[in-house]
Amino acid sequence: MVRITLPDGSVKEFASAPTAGEVAASIGAGLAKSALGARVDGELVDLAQRIERDAKVAIVTAKNRDGTVSPDALYLLRHSCAHVMAEAIQRLFPSVQLVYGPPLETSFYYDMLFPDGKIMSADDFEKVEAEMARIVAENRPFTRYEMPVADGMAKLGKEGSKFKLDNAQRAVEAGSTTLSWYATGEPGKDWEDLCRGPHVPSTGRIGAFKVLSLASSYWKGDEKLDRLTRVYGTAFATKEELEQHVRLQEEARRRDHRVLGKQLRLFHIDEMVGQGLILWTPKGSIVRNELQNFIGAELRKQGYHQVFTPHIGKLDLYKTSGHFPYYKESQFPAIPEGDDLAALCDSGCSCAELVARLDGVAPQFARELNERAGREVIGPERVMDPNRLVNGFLLKPMNCPHHAKIFASEPHSYRDMPVRLAEFGTVYRWEQSGELNGMTRVRGFTQDDAHLFVREDQVAEEVLGCLSLVKIIFATLGMNDYRVRVGLRDPDGSKYVGDPANWDKAEQACRDAAKTLGVPFSEEPGEAAFYGPKIDFVVKDVIGRSWQLGTVQVDYNLPIRFDLSYAGPDNRPHRPVMIHRAPFGSMERFCGVLIEHFAGAFPCWLNPEQVRVLPISEKSAAYADELLAALKARGVRATVDHGNERVQAKIKVAAEEKIPYMAVVGPRDAENRVVSVRARGVEANLGEMPFDAFVAGVADEIERRLLSGAPGTVQASFGK
Ligand SMILES: [Zn+2]
Ligand SMILES: [Zn+2]
Repeated sequence: MVRITLPDGSVKEFASAPTAGEVAASIGAGLAKSALGARVDGELVDLAQRIERDAKVAIVTAKNRDGTVSPDALYLLRHSCAHVMAEAIQRLFPSVQLVYGPPLETSFYYDMLFPDGKIMSADDFEKVEAEMARIVAENRPFTRYEMPVADGMAKLGKEGSKFKLDNAQRAVEAGSTTLSWYATGEPGKDWEDLCRGPHVPSTGRIGAFKVLSLASSYWKGDEKLDRLTRVYGTAFATKEELEQHVRLQEEARRRDHRVLGKQLRLFHIDEMVGQGLILWTPKGSIVRNELQNFIGAELRKQGYHQVFTPHIGKLDLYKTSGHFPYYKESQFPAIPEGDDLAALCDSGCSCAELVARLDGVAPQFARELNERAGREVIGPERVMDPNRLVNGFLLKPMNCPHHAKIFASEPHSYRDMPVRLAEFGTVYRWEQSGELNGMTRVRGFTQDDAHLFVREDQVAEEVLGCLSLVKIIFATLGMNDYRVRVGLRDPDGSKYVGDPANWDKAEQACRDAAKTLGVPFSEEPGEAAFYGPKIDFVVKDVIGRSWQLGTVQVDYNLPIRFDLSYAGPDNRPHRPVMIHRAPFGSMERFCGVLIEHFAGAFPCWLNPEQVRVLPISEKSAAYADELLAALKARGVRATVDHGNERVQAKIKVAAEEKIPYMAVVGPRDAENRVVSVRARGVEANLGEMPFDAFVAGVADEIERRLLSGAPGTVQASFGK
């Protein structure tokens, strides 16, 4: 007897082990028809999978009960479609060797080796898609079969694909006791692939698909190994969903901050300066400054103190904080002191020894490393004490240790708490060059950082304060679709620092604070840092893409490491709790996200240039200059285009530069002391506005940081 518990809590009993498909059929014929797979005790499986034991079973269909698209269904569809695409490509390019083909969040890919140099191109997509359509129309079942490891390896060996052998080897190393294949149809007769599964029941269930693009890749991501071709595709349950996706992709390309950043001259990345290091141009710097001023003003209202700290710190600082050497893979290498470096050179020190001495490895071992490297040691006793560690500096990967030292620099009483130190602090992290991406993945970035040193009883209120700031800023930027993730302890974790009772309180504080935001939030056990719970922000942009921004983290660890204290009412030292918060992550990432969110059309207050005055001819030049002066006197960033081109041409340029307002002025406007107003994105002239009203209206819109076209803007005053 097998007892199956369904998602609604009801239980079905089967005399013998049913397949997941039979469970679906027992619920209803409709479900059996629409089922694509199942989750059995949380694991995603084929419908053909037999369920031998009592289990919780949820049938996977294209849509969840609430009408949302099921991520499980998309996973199954895309993984299955990857097989279909691989078969189609092998039909067209018989010598192609398959490497690895996983589903992704919105697509899938298959890495392939085209051995004879004849590599498929985008021109082949249509042919591949036609072949795929044939395989889908044949509606062949995905049929799983398994072999013991030894037999499976022998089979793969005979087939002669080193890639598949390697995949199998890794599966075995990860604990697989059998190897499995999926035939698209009948094993031994139809196309097949070594695969863990699961898949949809048959090829006919793949509703809509598309071959998207090609990229080059390397086997195991290693440039020294085979150069591969990565073929991207995607699949959806319906044609409408696919079309919607393709539209969104096009929209995403139109909004790409790397393209817009160049076009609008907001930032520059220069090979000679270094990859992943952002050069903020004058225009981009205006956007950043406006954001920093805005955030800074809100911080002052909340009682934060602004601080500045240097870009480097001694290794001792980061050894104390724990950031070095444990995280050195993600940091720039340490900078040894010049005198030490010279002495080490003179004593024939190897790189390995230098690194060991910087890391703080026992000096004797550092010497051994040197001897193993076969260095000729020239009078080391004379030049360098063999027992000495080498000091040096680190480009700062985090601002926290510096802020902890500012807190520790003077005594604090319980009455002064909390102490809130804020800095737009620049930090440096080592990202692999393949991971770098415009402004959103970089090697140097400025966090909107702050550290709050609080009493235990203040944690809840201060976490709440951090979130209220986020709420204000997101609302101002029109980013109303965001959610928070609350990272909590593992239920059975012993790796956490701090008193469990305090953890309970801090976790509750994070939960409560998240609830007050009135946005969706999820609790994620196991996602807390070892030193405290945290809250992450994930914002959805206007085209529905999710961006992980920054965090608020409670920390019991760093105050211990830096032995921080404040005097309590009992006049004895008490340990503060630290809250780290950088809710927008970094200015680089945040600006990159904002460029995409606004498609480069920033609200007036953020835009580098806010008004462009366009005189129709030389005759209205003086009036144009008068308007310019009046705007500038109110702090509006305005220019005037005195060029000889026709005004239509000037309008076109200003539109391309995404200037929020154009003020067109001709002799008649001058006579009547009005301006003809145009707004970005609006085809026609909005209409006329009195000179003073226009200047005051724009200045007011900027001061109130209104979104483009929102009530109260100049644009809205025309009712358009
Ligand atoms: Zn597969
Ligand atoms: Zn920090």
